[in-house]
Amino acid sequence: MVGGFIQDGVHADAIGFTQQIFEAFDPPAGYRRLSPRFEKLAVSDDIVFELHGNMRWAKCFECGRRFAFDEIVARLGEGVDIPDCPQCRGMLKPDVVMFGEQLPHRVLEEASRRAMASDLCIVVGSTLVVYPAAYMPIYAVESGAKLIIINLGATPMDQQAAVLIPAKAGETMSKIIEKVKGKAGI
Ligand SMILES: [Zn+2]
Repeated sequence: MVGGFIQDGVHADAIGFTQQIFEAFDPPAGYRRLSPRFEKLAVSDDIVFELHGNMRWAKCFECGRRFAFDEIVARLGEGVDIPDCPQCRGMLKPDVVMFGEQLPHRVLEEASRRAMASDLCIVVGSTLVVYPAAYMPIYAVESGAKLIIINLGATPMDQQAAVLIPAKAGETMSKIIEKVKGKAGI
């Protein structure tokens, strides 16, 4: 199973890498119907699980509806002081998990389930010290998956890694993707 867990939703690079990995491997059912633009991929709730949300969306405190952040910024530009929810006039906040807030239950549950069902878990650019995101590779390894860690610094799971690459995540992923594409003839 191929899956992507984005710990920090603002890392567009990580989403881009996930997308390229999907393209290099046999894509999951439904993937081809998605737009190649990563914004669309990111909001697909079946492929990428953004545990901490992302800044491309704003969410209403009252009714829970989501709105593109660009729309909200546009209203600011039109002179609206504090843009509220167009549906219920509730207060809006960026759709990211703030310090002290609970992670979205469904996203966390599905990410955990996929981690437990995975054959391979690749950790890219994480020190694996922020929970519950750091549980994902633990679930994967405990369920028999191989673990690859690409991170410049040490992590608490280095000993469990089948492959440990202590290097910069962005540079390393670019090289890996080139190699995978070469092998796949893309
Ligand atoms: Zn609302």
